[in-house]
Amino acid sequence: MSIDEAGVRKALETIIDPQLGKGLITLGLVEQVAVAADGIRVVITSEESDPAANAPLERAITQAMETLAELEGVALPPLEVSFARKVRLAEQSSSSTENPLPNVRHVIAVGAGKGGVGKSTSAVTLAIGLARTGARVGLLDGDIYGPSIPTMFGLDEEVINVRGTTMIPFEAFGVKTVSIGKLVDPDKALIWRGPMAHGAFKQLALQTDWGPLDYLLVDLPPGTGDVPLTLAQLLPLTGAVLVCTPQRVAQDDARRAARMFQQLEVEIIGVIENMSSFTGKDGTTYDIFGEGGAEILAQTMGLPFLGRLPIHPELRINLDAGTPDRCFSGDPLLAEALDGLANGLASRVALMEQAGGLDRPTLEIN
Ligand code: ADP
Repeated sequence: MSIDEAGVRKALETIIDPQLGKGLITLGLVEQVAVAADGIRVVITSEESDPAANAPLERAITQAMETLAELEGVALPPLEVSFARKVRLAEQSSSSTENPLPNVRHVIAVGAGKGGVGKSTSAVTLAIGLARTGARVGLLDGDIYGPSIPTMFGLDEEVINVRGTTMIPFEAFGVKTVSIGKLVDPDKALIWRGPMAHGAFKQLALQTDWGPLDYLLVDLPPGTGDVPLTLAQLLPLTGAVLVCTPQRVAQDDARRAARMFQQLEVEIIGVIENMSSFTGKDGTTYDIFGEGGAEILAQTMGLPFLGRLPIHPELRINLDAGTPDRCFSGDPLLAEALDGLANGLASRVALMEQAGGLDRPTLEIN
C-alpha cells in the first residue's frame, strides 16, 4: 500500500468547513497536491494574511494525512503544507473569454438564511422594479427545492419553449424568466443532491437564450447548499442580496448565509429587511416580528443595508395570483418601498462599478 495523489485529495475532502459543511476540495481551496519520492506537498488557498490564522487548518491537514498513512499501513512521508493568497472565485471565470454569459452585465444572487422570509418575493419585485427603470432584466429561479417564480409570475400553465438545446425564457412584466420548476417536477426536486442540482442549475443558467441583459437576478434556494457554490464557480457574480426578517432566529441563519457568500468571495451588495412591520387601515403600525433586526445584522457585519419591506397583504395576494406588477400600482406606500429597493440596488451596483471594484466584461450588443 502507498499514498498517492488521489488518496491525499480524498483525505483533504474529509476536512469539512464548519460554516459551509463542505470539504476542502469541493470548496476549491486546494490549489496543489504533489506526491513525490521526497514527500507530500499541499498548497491551500487562504485569504488570511496572519499565518497564525492558518494553524488550525494546518493541524487538521496533518491529522488527515496521519490517518491516511495509518490506513495505508505506511509511515507518513515528510509533509509540507503551505498557504497561498486566495484567488477570487468570481475572478476565476470573469475574463471575457471564460465568462459563459458575456451579454449579461450583472449577475446578482438573491439569497436567504432560511425559507419563508420573502426571498422569492424580493427577487420578483426587485426584477420588476429594475425593469421599471428601463433596464433589461432576467430572473433565474434556481430554488430547486421550492421554485415559486412560475406561480408568482402567473406561469403555472405555461410550457417552456425549446429551440434546439436552448430554452426560450418566458417574458412577463418586462422580465425574462426561467424556472427549474418548469424543467422538473418540484416534488422530485426534494431528493436532489449535489451533482444533480449542479447540472440542472448549470443547464438553466447557460442554456437559456437570455439575450443582452443589464441584470440577471438569481433566486437561490435558502441556506448554504450546493447551488450558491455552483453559481459562484459558474458565473462572474456582481454580488448577492441577502433577505432577512427581523427576528433573532432569522438573523442567526442570515449571518451564516452572509459568511457563506463572504467565503465564496461574493460581495454582499446589501441586506433587505422583509416583513419589518405592518400598518393597519387605521394607520396604526404593529411590529409583528419586531423591526430593525436585519439592519442591526447588516451594521454588525459591516454590510450595506438596502431597506425595509413591510408586511403587506397586497404582496401576498398579488404574488399568489401571479400579478406582481399590481404591487407597484396599489398602495403608494408599498409601491414606494418596492421602487426604493430596486433603485437602491441599482445605485449600489453603479457605485461598485464606479469604484472599479468590478472586473466585469463589457456588454456586447448583438
Ligand atoms: P422564500 O422565497 O423566502 O421562501 P417567499 O417569497 O416565497 O419566501 O414568501 C413566502 C410567503 O410570504 C409568500 O406567500 C409571500 O407572498 C409572502 N410574503 C413574503 N413577504 C411578504 C410581505 N412583506 N408581506 C406579505 N406577505 C409576504
